[in-house]
Amino acid sequence: MQPRPFEAIVVGGGLVGAAIALGLTDQGVATVLLDEGDIAHRASRGNFGLVWVQSKGFGAPWYQRWTRGSAEAWPALAADLAARTGLDLALHQPGGVHLCLSEAEFEDRAAKMARMQAEAGNHGFDHRMIRAPELRDMLPGLGPAVVGASWTPYDGHASPLALLQALHRAFTAAGGAYIPDATVTAGSAAPHDFRVETAAGAFAAPRIVLAAGLGNADLAPLFGLAAPVRPQRGQILVTERARPVLPMPTTTIRQTGEGTIMLGDSMEEVGFDTSQSPPVMAEIARRAALSFPWIADLQVIRAWSALRVMAPDGLPIYDQSDRFPGAFTANCHSGVTLAGAHARIFAPMVAAGSLDPSLAPFSAKRFDVPHAA
Ligand SMILES: Cc1cc2nc3c(=O)[nH]c(=O)nc-3n(C[C@H](O)[C@H](O)[C@H](O)COP(=O)(O)OP(=O)(O)OC[C@H]3O[C@@H](n4cnc5c(N)ncnc54)[C@H](O)[C@@H]3O)c2cc1C
Repeated sequence: MQPRPFEAIVVGGGLVGAAIALGLTDQGVATVLLDEGDIAHRASRGNFGLVWVQSKGFGAPWYQRWTRGSAEAWPALAADLAARTGLDLALHQPGGVHLCLSEAEFEDRAAKMARMQAEAGNHGFDHRMIRAPELRDMLPGLGPAVVGASWTPYDGHASPLALLQALHRAFTAAGGAYIPDATVTAGSAAPHDFRVETAAGAFAAPRIVLAAGLGNADLAPLFGLAAPVRPQRGQILVTERARPVLPMPTTTIRQTGEGTIMLGDSMEEVGFDTSQSPPVMAEIARRAALSFPWIADLQVIRAWSALRVMAPDGLPIYDQSDRFPGAFTANCHSGVTLAGAHARIFAPMVAAGSLDPSLAPFSAKRFDVPHAA
C-alpha cells in the first residue's frame, strides 16, 4: 500500500511533539502527528505544570537562554491558544521561589544562583536571595523552618493538561492530521525522504521529527540519530481545594487555578517503574508541611507518579541527522516550560530545513554515542 504523503511527520503526541506539530502547521507545512496511545509512558499527562526558569542551565548558559526565551514566548502562545480553542491555560508568571529549609541549603542555593548570574554574562540573570522575614510578607503562612529562598522574576506555572489539549485542538483546527494508536514500528530513511510504518498505515514525508519521549531511544537510530534518554520517576500529591493562598509557585509547591495545592516532585532512578512509594510521598508531604504548616490540614485527594524523559546530563537533546537531512529529534524534561520555544522557535527551524547553529550544544554528539545509522 502506498504511504500517505505529508510534508512533515512528527512522531509522539505529547507536549513536545504537539507543540512542534502545531508550529509546523502554523508555518504552512502539511503535518501528520502520530502517537502510540494510552499504553505509552506519557510525561505530558503526569507533570507538575511549572513554567520554570531559575534553576535551568547551571553550567550550561545556552540552556538558560533557551528556557528564558521560551518563558517569554509563553504569554503570546497562551493567548493565541485561548483565542483558537477557547481553553484557558491558567498561565501565571508572577516570578517564583525556591525555598531553603536550612542555612546549608540557603548558602548552597546562593552560590548556585551567583554562578548562574556569572555564566549568564551580558544576557543577565535577575535574582535575589531573600531571608525569611521578607519572604513571610511575600508568602503568607510560611513555616518557621524556612530560612529563606532564591527568587527570580521569570518563573510561573500553567495547566499542563489544558496546554496539551489546546495544542492538539489548535493543530487539528489548523488542518493538521492527528493519528492516535499509531505506534511507529518501522521506518526507512533517505535524505529528505522518510517513511514510517504503523498499525494505522504507512506515512511518508521529506521531514521527520522524533518527539516520542522515552520512545526516541529506540526510534532515533532508524533515522541516523541518537537519543540516549532514560526514565526518571517523579511523584506528585494533590490536596483538596483551598482559598487562593499562594501568590506564586515554589519549585515543589504550587496552587492550581482550581485551588488545589500540588506537591512534588521527586527524582528517582527506578527505570520504567511507575508505581508509587509511600516513603517518597511522605517525604514530599513532610517538606511541604515544613514550608507551609497549614498544608498539613488539607486532605490529599490524588497522587501519581510519572516518568521524566532525561538525557545523561539533564539537558534537552535537539538534533538533526547529518546522513539523512530532514530528520530531527527533540527531547527534554521541561516540556511545559519549553512549549513556547518548541512551537515558535524550533518548529520554524524544522520548516526551514535545518536547526540554527545556536542549538548545536544540544546535539546528542555531546555524548559518546554513535550518531549515524
Ligand atoms: C513528575 C514530573 C513532573 C514534571 N514537572 C514539570 C514541570 O513542572 N514543568 C515542565 O516544564 N516539565 C515538567 N515535567 C516534564 C514534562 O512533563 C516533559 O518534559 C514532557 O511531558 C515531555 O513530553 P514529550 O512529548 O517529550 O514526552 P511524552 O509526554 O512522554 O510523550 C511522548 C509521546 O510519544 C508517544 N510515542 C512513544 N513511542 C512512540 C512510537 N514508537 N510511535 C508513536 N508514538 C510514540 C507516546 O504515546 C507519548 O504520547 C515533569 C515530568 C514529570 C514526570
